[in-house]
Amino acid sequence: GSVVRPAADEPERAAEAALRPRRLEEFVGQRVVRDQLSLVLEAAMARGRAPDHVLLSGPPGLGKTTLAMIIAAELGASLRVTSGPAIQHAGDLAAVLSSLDEGEVLFIDEIHRLARPAEELLYVAMEDFRVDVVVGKGAGASAIPLSLPPFTVVGATTRAGLLPAPLRDRFGFTGHLDFYADDELERVLVRSAGLLGVPLDAEAAAEIASRSRGTPRIANRLLRRVRDWAQVRGDGHLSLDAARSALAVYEVDERGLDRLDRAVLDALCRRFGGGPVGLTTLAVAVGEEPETVETVAEPFLVREGLVGRTPRGRVALPPAWEHLGLAVPVASDT
Ligand code: ADP
Repeated sequence: GSVVRPAADEPERAAEAALRPRRLEEFVGQRVVRDQLSLVLEAAMARGRAPDHVLLSGPPGLGKTTLAMIIAAELGASLRVTSGPAIQHAGDLAAVLSSLDEGEVLFIDEIHRLARPAEELLYVAMEDFRVDVVVGKGAGASAIPLSLPPFTVVGATTRAGLLPAPLRDRFGFTGHLDFYADDELERVLVRSAGLLGVPLDAEAAAEIASRSRGTPRIANRLLRRVRDWAQVRGDGHLSLDAARSALAVYEVDERGLDRLDRAVLDALCRRFGGGPVGLTTLAVAVGEEPETVETVAEPFLVREGLVGRTPRGRVALPPAWEHLGLAVPVASDT
């Protein structure tokens, strides 16, 4: 599978959880969001009130879930976790909301995937701290308003632009997480290696960081793969050699592109002659959901200057052709 996706199985989730920073000061990078959030939290605590609802946006693996947990920890509040896809009916959400205790933090991952009725129920709850509980069925049904204690919603989304305005407006604070710089990823790696108790050379940390797609989740994943390699094929020491050999085995190239990234570039260049090609067509060509291509692969490819987005679709930029070892086509109409 792709190295970017959320943890798929239990051991992987446990490995991720073990490396999560617990407090804001341990959270590496994202200076702006961290400073703003720390103000929001301190002010709320000084007033003795639940802070404004917080929306966190950004590509997968950049720390949205981690920050939600940190927010609860900093507030000394307990955290409830759910997600847009997990809430099938508005009633499921009403049940969660009506069971919240005062000051609790409700984390809703992939909040842009909430169904419309749940979304409407949520923004009323966020604004007025009230849910309408529907009793009975059909013509005899009636809605009983139930007031809720103050609580804080932390929503996470890979694309803030996908949220309808009425919901987006209920968040008093929006933090956008961006890809991490290599030196920040090195700090993530050094911290993780310390927690795992594995010796990591500085050059190895730099090598892994530069191939981690600007993403802490990937940095930690690659670190574990390099550790595997070092334990099985090497002497347990995470050297530059061990890092390079392991990353070659796992098909992470020198730019950090994984299989899905390369499939997208390959389809764009070889199959569609560099584009422009629509997102859906491109997604079908690589056998993925359009949302996966758009939120998992594309942001990094665009940031790296490999892919461009135009009104007519996605285009391969010259570095994409070069990366695949292909000749850059000469533009015919310029
Ligand atoms: P998201 O919810 O945005 O997909 P997560 O919060 O689950 O991402 O983070 C994925 C992994 O990366 C976690 O194991 C976490 O420990 C690590 N991580 C993310 N951001 C940071 C950070 N700023 N500092 C240290 N580790 C981080």
